[in-house]
Amino acid sequence: MSTIFEKIISGQIPADILYQDDQCIVIRDIEAQAPTHFLVIPKKVISRIGNAEDQDRSTLGHLLLIAAKIANQENLDSGYRIVINNGNDGGETVPHLHIHVLGGRQMKWPPG
Ligand code: AMP
Repeated sequence: MSTIFEKIISGQIPADILYQDDQCIVIRDIEAQAPTHFLVIPKKVISRIGNAEDQDRSTLGHLLLIAAKIANQENLDSGYRIVINNGNDGGETVPHLHIHVLGGRQMKWPPG
């Protein structure tokens, strides 16, 4: 069964798309947890970072570089946080790897 992100990637479900290329799509999170909150999602289905393989190395690097590039485009000059939730304890709800980028407010540590 395909996840919501596969449906967004295939165009079945609309999303607020900030960027896309052959490897990834970047969308605004529908339940933003900060003034700016977007997701960087690989087009290849990798269920979670814990299941990524050596062959995913360049895709994973690309996702981080795009996260930084779009953060810059979104004018997050005073900083931002990158989060990957992995598995149940990590708070993952969609089993298709995605990088959260949150900014526009002061982040707290430790995270909840
Ligand atoms: P996670 O809990 O780390 O698996 O993150 C899943 C994220 O996807 C959550 O922050 C949701 O708000 C977000 N989300 C779920 N459905 C959509 C959607 N249709 N468009 C944009 N973001 C979504």
